Amino acid sequence: MANVPTDLMDQIRRFEEMFTLEIPKCKEITERFESELTKGLSKEGGTIPMNPTWVVGYPTGDEQGTYLAIDMGGTNLRVCEVELGQERGSFDITQSKYLLPEEVKTGSAEQLFDFLADCVKQFLVSNHEDQDLEELSDLHLGFTFSYPCEQHAIDHGILQRWTKGFDIAGVEGQDVVPMFEEALERKGVPIKIAALINDTTGTLIASAYTDPRTRIGCIFGTGCNAAYMEEAQYIPKLEHMNLPPDFPIAINCEWGAFDGEHKVLPRTPYDIIIDKESPRPGQQTFEKMVAGLYLGEIFRLALVDLVKNQPVKFLEGQDISALEKPYEFDSSVLSEIESDPNENLWEAGEYMKKKLKINANEAERKLIRRLAELIGTRAARLAACGVAAICNKKGYKSCHVGADGSLFNKYPGFPERNAQALREILDWPSSVKEDPIQVVTAEDGSGVGAALIAALTLKRIRKGIH
Ligand code: BGC
Ligand code: MG
Repeated sequence: MANVPTDLMDQIRRFEEMFTLEIPKCKEITERFESELTKGLSKEGGTIPMNPTWVVGYPTGDEQGTYLAIDMGGTNLRVCEVELGQERGSFDITQSKYLLPEEVKTGSAEQLFDFLADCVKQFLVSNHEDQDLEELSDLHLGFTFSYPCEQHAIDHGILQRWTKGFDIAGVEGQDVVPMFEEALERKGVPIKIAALINDTTGTLIASAYTDPRTRIGCIFGTGCNAAYMEEAQYIPKLEHMNLPPDFPIAINCEWGAFDGEHKVLPRTPYDIIIDKESPRPGQQTFEKMVAGLYLGEIFRLALVDLVKNQPVKFLEGQDISALEKPYEFDSSVLSEIESDPNENLWEAGEYMKKKLKINANEAERKLIRRLAELIGTRAARLAACGVAAICNKKGYKSCHVGADGSLFNKYPGFPERNAQALREILDWPSSVKEDPIQVVTAEDGSGVGAALIAALTLKRIRKGIH
């Protein structure tokens, strides 16, 4: 790197050593990942929950009807009305977004579910001006609740634990469906919940609806997770249900929990701090290294460490109080800094002045940009380990993986880095013209996917299969 003094260069090398995942390490992670996926399906269980979702099979493309969907993700709240199937595999969607207030994320259960119910009510009132709420009671709702839930039926789900920084008392260990239904009732909204859905399962189903080559649904966003279709014979923990061996059932992996016992992931001191200071220390080890919620924080901690603890001249004499606020920066900061095309990074420098409130010289800008690149690349490569593990487990040699979320859609280079790692982990010869397994932009899982799952559920109920 041109014009970078040796003490800064030493720090760059230190970061490179910390964050670079060489291919042998990726392969080791992938192997362990695969065995943890299998363990999660066993009766004893493992660190990855591998939750059966009771979504039993792919859509045919012929699903029809109008459904409501509510998406409670990590950042936004969305209410959708989805009309399926004017043509095969097609849909029409009307939606509104609501900002989930910070205080709701750490407030009470009643506050949360009342807020959700209010949003549904507001949506219905403004989209059905000429109708009374009671006239809408035929509408069925798919509830996308993207947190780990243990499900014994498609319209029930016990929250195992909050993730993504949520910390609402009185919900963990409880069935969230009746809690939400009671709130809907309190607000006079006559809608029934047809299905509780994880965003990854929604993504799998929505993508399969428009692209039958889809075998996996992934979210690379605020959180990180995947779902795929498993056959009952490979799910020993469902043995007592006596399902036919080839009975398909979507598994929400909850792979964010991978390596909770810290056996294989090379955690940096920053990863360890993030974990310790999170509302749920010891949980979601993999997610805390990969998901959008954490990348900006890893970056921030690394920069503060340079200023305060490392033997290097870095941002000398500057006020770094803006850098000292936990979770002040999300992953868009990394992508902004990375996307400056100028050799001297002056655009990134202007952005740093505005956003990080620091005045970095050219050499410092180069270090900061390299750090962002290392953190973003590590996330993309770890994500590839998870995808490769599912493909290896299922013996998929060629398929599409539908991916959604802010990292995949908005972080330039993430999909390419992810694809590159997948190529190396799965050892495709350089002679193949097209990657046999491709991670592609998904269809809207939490809206369209949720509507499809509601439709599939109602169809089964009508046919008397529960
Ligand atoms: C949750 C998953 C979810 C993922 C992506 C994780 O924190 O545990 O249920 O699929 O985030 O939203
Ligand atoms: Mg989402």
